Amino acid sequence: RKRVVRISTGSKQFDSILGGGFQSMSISEVFGEFRCGKTQLSHTISVIAQLPVELGGANGKVAYIDTEGTFRPERIAQIAERYGVDPEATQENIAYARALNSEHQLELLNTLSREFSGGAFRLLVIDSIMNCFRVDYCGRGELADRQQKLNQFLMKLAHMAEEFNVCVLMVSIILSSFLFGMLYSYLTLLAQTNQVQSDPGASSLFAGADGRKPVGGHVLAHASTTRVLLRKGRGEERVAKIQDSPDCPEREAIYIITNGGIND
Ligand code: ADP
Ligand code: MG
Repeated sequence: RKRVVRISTGSKQFDSILGGGFQSMSISEVFGEFRCGKTQLSHTISVIAQLPVELGGANGKVAYIDTEGTFRPERIAQIAERYGVDPEATQENIAYARALNSEHQLELLNTLSREFSGGAFRLLVIDSIMNCFRVDYCGRGELADRQQKLNQFLMKLAHMAEEFNVCVLMVSIILSSFLFGMLYSYLTLLAQTNQVQSDPGASSLFAGADGRKPVGGHVLAHASTTRVLLRKGRGEERVAKIQDSPDCPEREAIYIITNGGIND
């Protein structure tokens, strides 16, 4: 029988609001504004996932899909040093892929499925999930199409997480309130004129207009089991807040970004 493992974030406070860390066999989503540490968290957890279970790891290999070109092997080496593990071996245990478009992103999942069937992988990071979809489907008529493709991608992810006992961590972004308001007006108009409303996924995209809803809307909300909002705090502090978790209360934690990755 497969057992759920929890992978530490690098911060004890952050781990505690998650009930120990990000879980295998499920999809977790972190979203938040620019520079709040989404990519740093992605790097940190890619190192920790390889550590023994007693140290907050999952004793597993890692797959990393990068859509923004922000993966830095040097950061992996620095974080590995913090945990006293071999930097090169740690880098080599990360199967890295740069996704070029949404088609390619979906294809990568098929390739990874074959790799995962070996049983050695415990973590899949996608930084970030919407980037390719946003670029490929930006036209007016393509919104429903994009939601459908995204849905397909998420279904596949959910399936892989379950089948191979993998923790899927996906990063998404939120827009600034201003941009968000504009997009919301635009999409409301679009929904009225184009009957996008008949597609529940599409009509709920950007719903809320409170500046705190991730790009991708409700399609993402259904596939992810735990969602965490990251934001900037005072000074160097960053704040993580649980949202819509099935088994964790909506608590906040403060963390910082260091040379050794996410920390308290
Ligand atoms: P996001 O992906 O959410 O846009 P990042 O994960 O790239 O944000 O985080 C960027 C932040 O991380 C910046 O504030 C930067 O100063 C900080 N950072 C990056 N590397 C280091 C490091 N080695 N030590 C301390 N802080 C760092
Ligand atoms: Mg980033």
